Amino acid sequence: MVNSDQIKPSVQKGILCAKCEHLNRRGTETCRRCGSALYITCKHCKTKNPRVTTKCSNCKHSLHRSRRNRFLRKWMPKRQRKVAGQVALGVAVGFIVYKIIILVLNRMG
Ligand SMILES: [Zn+2]
Ligand SMILES: [Zn+2]
Repeated sequence: MVNSDQIKPSVQKGILCAKCEHLNRRGTETCRRCGSALYITCKHCKTKNPRVTTKCSNCKHSLHRSRRNRFLRKWMPKRQRKVAGQVALGVAVGFIVYKIIILVLNRMG
């Protein structure tokens, strides 16, 4: 989590690029070095915020998805995640049952 207080001094001097950290002049829409957008519009209230901030200055709505969520979304859709959990549980239970059967059979024999 980036504390918004840490960003304030750089925002006063200019607009810091979220991608390459190049300090751009105020009023610039895109980074002069890498060309990426310097502002992000809040989906919640349509307020324009510098891209380096994580929360909307107006409504505190989160502007970026967390890295972890993006990773999970990319590699494991929700339904698949659930299935993976069930499969893991099934395998674990099956393994325990199998072990008990072997144990019982050994005792009987
Ligand atoms: Zn840049
Ligand atoms: Zn907002």
